[in-house]
Amino acid sequence: MRYDDKNEASGYRRNYILSTKVIVVNQDTINRMREHYQINLLEKVPPGGVFAAKLPTCMVTAYRSGKVMFQGGMADQESSKWDGTPSVTKPKSSSPKVRTDQYSIPVDIAKMAIIGSDEVGTGDYFGPITVVAAYVEPAQMDLLKELGVKDSKDLKDPQIVKIAKDIIEVVPHSLLILHNEKYNTIQERGMTQGKIKALLHNKALEKISPTKPDGILIDQFAEPDVYYRHIKNEKQIVKENVYFSTKAEGVHLAVAAASIIARYAFVREFDKLSEKAGMVLQKGAGPGVDRIAAQLIKQKGEEILRTTAKLHFANTEKSKRLLR
Ligand code: MN
Repeated sequence: MRYDDKNEASGYRRNYILSTKVIVVNQDTINRMREHYQINLLEKVPPGGVFAAKLPTCMVTAYRSGKVMFQGGMADQESSKWDGTPSVTKPKSSSPKVRTDQYSIPVDIAKMAIIGSDEVGTGDYFGPITVVAAYVEPAQMDLLKELGVKDSKDLKDPQIVKIAKDIIEVVPHSLLILHNEKYNTIQERGMTQGKIKALLHNKALEKISPTKPDGILIDQFAEPDVYYRHIKNEKQIVKENVYFSTKAEGVHLAVAAASIIARYAFVREFDKLSEKAGMVLQKGAGPGVDRIAAQLIKQKGEEILRTTAKLHFANTEKSKRLLR
């Protein structure tokens, strides 16, 4: 199949749990909706479907039955644009335990003064985890767009470094770097990466919090309930007007800026580690990384991984196997 339904489908499912809204509308409304979402329509429509559209903030799927499903960060807001009746059948993966309304994102969030937070490095074997909280208010938005601030996943590292250098002076932010040695120590004590991330986000938000925003938007890596469970023993818990969204870089420039600054900090630290290692390290966690780690062990001894890599990744074993 040409269309990568597998990835898409799992993406939906994740959003599903976050926020799903199903309404029932008449044929006429479905026609109007299709027209309204014309530029966002997907080629592939699921079985029984009339159309599927992918908006920056949610997925819309209309079915011949008249049901229209909205899935994603702004499902509530998007569905409320249409006068349908709420569906009586609950979507199957929505569980009563999952609270969605509490964290649902304001419709006009993109125009609000927001602190956004994002992290980098959690999937990279070499290098630290960096987390940034950044504050962006409406008056800055045009400038930031002009400077090239957008979803960092669409940007290459050299571009990110350039944009970061431009915005770092004008965007108030807090930056946390969790270096490898400390990461390995707390990971070995049994802390999950999810909890590590939650603690770092909360800390970064706490550090920047003297700036009073209209809201806080976290690029979502866990269900809100799980996130708050991770940080429940912290002295200070940032939770007032906190919203969560996956792909939040596309929801507010503050998250896009946070993501760029976090990536910049990661790249800088990464380059320092390469220097220390005496070889050009590689990002990610693929087979190339195993080969470099093996070479590194050979040249400097296994101990160097403790201060340059995330030891619990499978890459550690794989690289040692390469040396046998
Ligand atoms: Mn993220």
